[in-house]
Amino acid sequence: MKSKREHQIVAGLRQQVAPALHIPDMVRVGVIASTEEHELWLQAHLMSCEGCRAPLVSLMLKRTAVDVHRPPEMPCARARDVLFRYFEGGPLPDEAVLAHITACDLCDDLFFEPAQAVILKEYEPDHLGEVD
Ligand SMILES: [Zn+2]
Ligand SMILES: [Zn+2]
Repeated sequence: MKSKREHQIVAGLRQQVAPALHIPDMVRVGVIASTEEHELWLQAHLMSCEGCRAPLVSLMLKRTAVDVHRPPEMPCARARDVLFRYFEGGPLPDEAVLAHITACDLCDDLFFEPAQAVILKEYEPDHLGEVD
């Protein structure tokens, strides 16, 4: 009886952890430190990863609702850390983070360039190629 309960708890924990933490720690730290090599890895990952695609696209759509005239008040490292947690099942980034990512060229390239590529490919396939 007791061991069955323990098995259930272990199984439950495993389920909670499963979708998260699939981005290697090294990449995470590298991106937070603005290492180009790791930024490129992340961009490629965001374009191909099933798990990151949905949160990335909904973030992209949310971005259009943010007031972008406010200056980014936080360092890139903090905004990126919040984004990583979001991709791993954390809460949607707050407006300050969204404003930073929208106003900061570096973070915009890092997260929204892959997002735009994903949206074009997944949701507007007609826009690929020379079709007008
Ligand atoms: Zn991913
Ligand atoms: Zn930034």
